[in-house]
Amino acid sequence: MFGRAQIKAIPLMLLVFVLTGLPAYAQNWQEFKRQHFIIYYKKAPYDFVETVYEMAEEYYVEITHNLGFTRYKGWNWEDRAKIYIYDSMEDYVESGKQAGWSAGSAYPADRTIRTFPSSHGFFDSTLPHELGHIIFREFVGFKAQIPAWFEEGVAMYQEKAKRWGAHDVVRKAIEDGTFVPLPELTITNVSYRASADLVNLFYAESASIVNFMINELGDQRFVYLCRKLKDGEPFPWVLDSVYSRLKNIDDLNEAWVKYLKNE
Ligand SMILES: [Zn+2]
Repeated sequence: MFGRAQIKAIPLMLLVFVLTGLPAYAQNWQEFKRQHFIIYYKKAPYDFVETVYEMAEEYYVEITHNLGFTRYKGWNWEDRAKIYIYDSMEDYVESGKQAGWSAGSAYPADRTIRTFPSSHGFFDSTLPHELGHIIFREFVGFKAQIPAWFEEGVAMYQEKAKRWGAHDVVRKAIEDGTFVPLPELTITNVSYRASADLVNLFYAESASIVNFMINELGDQRFVYLCRKLKDGEPFPWVLDSVYSRLKNIDDLNEAWVKYLKNE
C-alpha cells in the first residue's frame, strides 16, 4: 500500500526490511495492542489512539447488549479486532482504497475496521457503526444472505443520534415522494457512483426500519430473527416465521410506513 508520494521511499524501506527483518509495509504502521483490539496508526497522537481503544471497549459491551446478543462470545488475543487509523481522509481514500463519501469501512471476516479521525462524528458515529457491522456479522455468520439495508440498519442503530433522527428523514421522503419502498431498497445498489441524496436516503431508511423492527416489533423477536438468519434461512422466510402478521417484505414495508404516518 504505497501512495504516490511514497514511491521514492521504497528503496530505503527495502533496506530497512533487510536490516530489521520486518516486511516493508509494516514500517508504515505503529501498533497499540490490548486484549480485544489491536489499533494500527501512523501519525495519530497517542492519546487519540488510547481514546479510540477505550471507546471501542465500551461499544463492544454496549453493542452486544443492545442487539440482545447476550450469548455472544467475544474476541481475545489471536482473534482480536484490528482498527486501522489512517492519517487523513486523503490517506484513507488513496492508500486505503475507499469511497470518498465513507468515513470508515468494516471487513467482518478479518475483524478489521479502516477509518480516519474525521473532524466530527468519529467517536459517536464511525466507531460504533463499524463495530456494529463486525459484531453483527460474527453473530449471524458469513453464510447468511441479508439485505444491505438490514445490515446497514443494524450498524446505524449503534449511532444514537442517527437512530432517532432517521424516522423524520423518512417521513419527509414519504411526503415529498422520494421514499424508496423496502422491496426496491432491497435491490438498490449504493456504490461509489450513487448520488449523495440516494446514499443519504438509503442509510436513513435502513436506520429507520431496523429501529422500527427492534423497538416496535420487539427486541426478543429481533434476536430470534438474527438466530434464524444464522441458521442459513433466507431473509423472506425468516420474516414469515418470526412475525406472524408479516408474510413478506411488502408486508414489513406496509407496517413500517403505517407506523411512521401515525406516530
Ligand atoms: Zn455501514
